[in-house]
Amino acid sequence: MRVTWESEGNVWRLAFRLDAEDSITGLCSDGQALKLATNSMRVELPHAPREVHPDLLALAAWTVVAPWTRRRIVFDRPVSPELADAIETGWGIQAGPVGGSPRSGSRLAISYSGGADSAAVAAILPDAPFVHFQRVPHPRVPNRWTHYRSDVLARLAEQTGRELTVVRSDLEFTLAEPRPGYPEHHAVAAGALLTAGELDLGGLAFGYELGSRWLGGGRYLHRYTPDNLMWSQHGAWGQAFAAAGLHIVLPVGGVSEAVTMRLALGSPVREQVRWCLRGTDGPCGTCGKCLYKELIHAAIERRPLRTSITLDRGVARRWQQPPPYGGQEMIEYGCARVPGIEETVFARAAGFLKATEASTAWLERCYPPAVEEVPEPWRKPIHDFMATEIGFMSEDEARRVETWGMT
Ligand SMILES: [Zn+2]
Repeated sequence: MRVTWESEGNVWRLAFRLDAEDSITGLCSDGQALKLATNSMRVELPHAPREVHPDLLALAAWTVVAPWTRRRIVFDRPVSPELADAIETGWGIQAGPVGGSPRSGSRLAISYSGGADSAAVAAILPDAPFVHFQRVPHPRVPNRWTHYRSDVLARLAEQTGRELTVVRSDLEFTLAEPRPGYPEHHAVAAGALLTAGELDLGGLAFGYELGSRWLGGGRYLHRYTPDNLMWSQHGAWGQAFAAAGLHIVLPVGGVSEAVTMRLALGSPVREQVRWCLRGTDGPCGTCGKCLYKELIHAAIERRPLRTSITLDRGVARRWQQPPPYGGQEMIEYGCARVPGIEETVFARAAGFLKATEASTAWLERCYPPAVEEVPEPWRKPIHDFMATEIGFMSEDEARRVETWGMT
């Protein structure tokens, strides 16, 4: 794989070329098969940066091309030995040319999506600036995803009043299959990487919560994952970001989505929180994500489910099948707490799971190792917030995390 960055004012364009051993089908770090659509993308910054450290450019490119790279990657500028080592160790990929020294920075920014998890991070770090990734169309790929309202999310981010950098990019259209999206989850940070020098960033806080960090949630493993390749400090991506002087920080890595939603809805940005990518004046209320989040919302408010989604809808179908489910811990939590769950589309799931308030109480507290792995400069404020506002899990509760998915 060979990558080349070119800049023109505030716009950075990446072009990449596959080597003979590379393939247009590859795997995301979470195991999802990905098919390449096109070999170019751009990142538009709010204004032209003074200069961008080669390691930041290289890592931003790596978040896009990693799935399709088999043996080596050749950057257009020399990278530090530290970054080359991290790529070699993490992926077994030879990276170069090597030269120059690594960078560092001191501030912590939030990769802010506008959803409940990143709003919770914002509540924990009231002074941290936001970097928001906004999807824009790609000149060479037709946009069949016009219902995806990235403009609404960017406007809501602006309405928070927080120091904000909006970065516009078409990099999600490098993916043909399964659909446009980040080639690696870390590609959301491409803009943050390109502005890290300008903003003096040493860390980037993401809204990945307990399920994503420790329980193998989402589309991946559904079991305890201390060595999570994507989000652990010692994993491949954690080491690559550290080498580029932008440490991955997960302030809500130890708490469930019940906690992040409670924090988000009690925070100064609650009016701007939006987890649905479809609605304009509010969440659409009809997509699978709205249904899932409504279950959690109803559970923390201990009220009946408010939804118009019925059993005949496609998004209700997965809840008629037996587990495992992605985000299963939150389905258990919701089924145990929502009054009248047996009258809803979650009735069958509730029957399979047989969860109770007692069996899901661990999801209301913080898993201590998640705070211990926060890089040192930012650990104490996050620890103190968890100690004061949330409380830590007991040993028995922590064991629920550590035996998750092992029946
Ligand atoms: Zn929706």
